[in-house]
Amino acid sequence: MRWLVTVTLLFVNAASVSADDRLCSYSSYKWNAYQKSVVEYEEIRKSYSDLTADEIDEQTGCSVCREDQVSVSIGGTRHLQLCKQVAHSVEVAISNAIQAGQAIEEVKGYRVGKTKGALDADGNRTGFSNHSFGIAIDVNPQNNGLYENCLEFGAHCVLRKGGEWIRGHDLSLHAQSPIVTEMKRHGFKWGGEIPGRQKDFMHFSYSGY
Ligand SMILES: [Zn+2]
Repeated sequence: MRWLVTVTLLFVNAASVSADDRLCSYSSYKWNAYQKSVVEYEEIRKSYSDLTADEIDEQTGCSVCREDQVSVSIGGTRHLQLCKQVAHSVEVAISNAIQAGQAIEEVKGYRVGKTKGALDADGNRTGFSNHSFGIAIDVNPQNNGLYENCLEFGAHCVLRKGGEWIRGHDLSLHAQSPIVTEMKRHGFKWGGEIPGRQKDFMHFSYSGY
């Protein structure tokens, strides 16, 4: 009898550590800092057990996999894709903001790309953005640009992405905008308020980056 128990225990053990062979798929690109453009588009398919540490966000457990993203309603008429762990709170925040009068032209969520971190020898960025895990959103990008050289907002700031931020414009976000207060209430930081030389007025994530 003893051998049977041993074999059964071995079998249970093996099953509990067996590989997660669900399919993970995503398309990705890199930002090249020398060319100032997107390079090396690729489509990736692998099993979940082959994901590397940089393909999973440590804080949320969200991954770069398309399979981890769900549809989020923008006021019931339009949709965006976000990681299932953050989708509900963002949907509530957007809905509340719209009810409080927030003008929303566009919201972008999940898109996988290496646009952060150190450069490799060819000038390509090597770290995934928070959008890559479906844990960041961009609101009204055409009126809420990403600026560099921008410790304090002013004419010296250099627009790098999106459209110009215009004081008083109903699509340009500010500290009292309903979407800013709602997202902060749900634990997100606004890229327009992050310290340092970058101001990303369209952007929200847990870190602000
Ligand atoms: Zn963003």
